[in-house]
Amino acid sequence: MHNTHRRTFLQSAAALGLAGLSAPLIAAAKIKPAANAALIVVDVQNCFVDGGTLPVKGGAEVVPVINKLSTAFENIVVTQDWHTQGHASFASAHPGQKPFSSIKLAYGNQVLWPDHCVQGTDDAALHKDLKLPTAQVIIRKGFHKGVDSYSAFEEADRKTATGLAGYLKQRGIKTVFVSGLATDFCVAWTALDARKHGFEAYVIEDATRAIDLNGSLAAAWKQMAAKGVKRIQSTDIEVVA
Ligand SMILES: [Zn+2]
Repeated sequence: MHNTHRRTFLQSAAALGLAGLSAPLIAAAKIKPAANAALIVVDVQNCFVDGGTLPVKGGAEVVPVINKLSTAFENIVVTQDWHTQGHASFASAHPGQKPFSSIKLAYGNQVLWPDHCVQGTDDAALHKDLKLPTAQVIIRKGFHKGVDSYSAFEEADRKTATGLAGYLKQRGIKTVFVSGLATDFCVAWTALDARKHGFEAYVIEDATRAIDLNGSLAAAWKQMAAKGVKRIQSTDIEVVA
């Protein structure tokens, strides 16, 4: 009796083309960010798009993706790279050095960049098409003249906190979804530090763009995977339009 039922079911399933039923159902399940999740929008500023001082290829393309994603989140954190004049991460601050080379500073290796995202300039302003009216906090980073800060959590000396971990913890946030610019620097360091501080962390790949300097993008993904950062696409998230 049992076998007959089973065979009938299998035949029906085959007839309906449902042989691989479970796999597509799992693949189609979308992530619905909970009330204790936050979207972190990293450095979507004029400096990092075409026309800016340190443009990331395709940087502006993340703007509509992030605007759409934002409606799925109750909590949104925005970051801004926010440097002093003559900042230690600027090649111009080190005689004889050129942008995109590396030097050793007191806290370790530092890639040298063109002057970018100087405090209070239009270049450092958020991209004009970024529409995040419900964002609750803006974390500015890289404002200590002698220390860079790719991460939204900790400066490059790996000691000085930005305050973001405390802010998120005091608000009961457990999971962060990281988007923005650039994938292999500020996004990756932010996601890695989120893990370090005990948060579940996702990077939404198509909501980021990379600089990819000397293989930095592949290295960043590898490092993130090793630390348990989950790599997803914006279409994996349930967005109610
Ligand atoms: Zn910077």
